[in-house]
Amino acid sequence: MKKMLTDLDVKGKKVLLRVDFNVPIKNGKITDDNRIRAALPTIKYLLEHEAAVIAFSHLGRVKTPEDLQTKSLAPIAEYLEQFVGQKVTFVPETRGAKLEAAVAALKPGQIMMFENTRFEDLDGKKESKNDPELGKYWASLGDLFVNDAFGTAHRSHASNCGIAANIATSAAGFLLQKEIEFLGKATYNPERPFATILGGAKVSDKIGILEHFLDTADKVIVGGAMMFTFLKASGKSVGKSLCEEDKLDVASRILENAKAKGVEFILPIDVVVGKEFANDTETKVVSVDEIEDEWMGLDIGPKSLELFAKSLEGSKTVVWNGPMGAFEMPTFAKGTNGLCAAIAKLKGALTIIGGGDSAAAATQLGFKDKFSYISTGGGASLEFLEGAKLPGIESLSDK
Ligand code: ADP
Ligand code: MG
Repeated sequence: MKKMLTDLDVKGKKVLLRVDFNVPIKNGKITDDNRIRAALPTIKYLLEHEAAVIAFSHLGRVKTPEDLQTKSLAPIAEYLEQFVGQKVTFVPETRGAKLEAAVAALKPGQIMMFENTRFEDLDGKKESKNDPELGKYWASLGDLFVNDAFGTAHRSHASNCGIAANIATSAAGFLLQKEIEFLGKATYNPERPFATILGGAKVSDKIGILEHFLDTADKVIVGGAMMFTFLKASGKSVGKSLCEEDKLDVASRILENAKAKGVEFILPIDVVVGKEFANDTETKVVSVDEIEDEWMGLDIGPKSLELFAKSLEGSKTVVWNGPMGAFEMPTFAKGTNGLCAAIAKLKGALTIIGGGDSAAAATQLGFKDKFSYISTGGGASLEFLEGAKLPGIESLSDK
């Protein structure tokens, strides 16, 4: 067991807090503040317990000097002020005298932030390659380390593993703790029947999790663009639909393994096809045996939805990753919408979304509060659900 925030005595301590404030920003405005809100319980707890909080995060990828202009955390520090009810001192540096002076001046119950940790990537990828000197330096700025950044927990970076390796005591924040609890239940101890639903764009992104679910789940339901690789592998024509020709053998193998392992593998029976990848294109519903050359599949059809909803009935654990169709276009959002509604109806089930676009879809379609848990990690939740040990968690102190 890893140390949790409540295992620490934070009073009067300088606490280094790694958060995931990698939020979308358009023209200097934050367009989705979910990740900031998700870190608030930890931040508030630390401030109420009189810690001096030094918060930091990455934002986007930093590759060119121009990125230093557009990927500053300054607007996020300012945005945070409304939630913590006090000034958030921002230091536009990732190291040096200014930063050290601000840390020294920070009093218990106060919070500061420093600049995007990936600004260190411009010079030899120091953050992303976990440069040992950098982790050691950041660790030297505080007494304790709290990691609440689940979204990067699958990566070994200086701002998570590097600090944890160089500080006496580190612990998981409340968000990380919640992710570990919810995803852990589904991964290691799922109440049955355990149904999984996979969709989204590519089979190749999800081979690992597909194979893992064949060992742990009772049902694997597949929709989204990845269904077409499976349909083609089963000998059907898929027209202009997205299909990974180089993954047909993988898809066949997965279908065979599912049979051998006695896992129900459920593919759509009908599909909404369009002439073009556009919201106002001509559409029709066809059986999966009748996809013509000039058409592309952009959503699951109504009969598939009915089939999926029926097979979810009675489930006690549901994990969903990947939208059923190109839901960003309302014409092709019905499958994803209907799936959300079917999951929302389940009684007494643990229902989890792991996946950035699926989470966005559930939120956009108004189902955000209907799930037991929506993970804040994309790649990190997939890796966790596959049963992998995440370095950002493993590097923390044991209880
Ligand atoms: P997540 O982020 O939840 O893991 P992915 O990133 O794998 O999901 O996939 C999400 C994307 O898949 C969405 O942008 C969606 O439009 C796209 N998608 C789903 N079904 C189709 C389809 N039939 N054709 C084209 N794109 C699709
Ligand atoms: Mg995605």
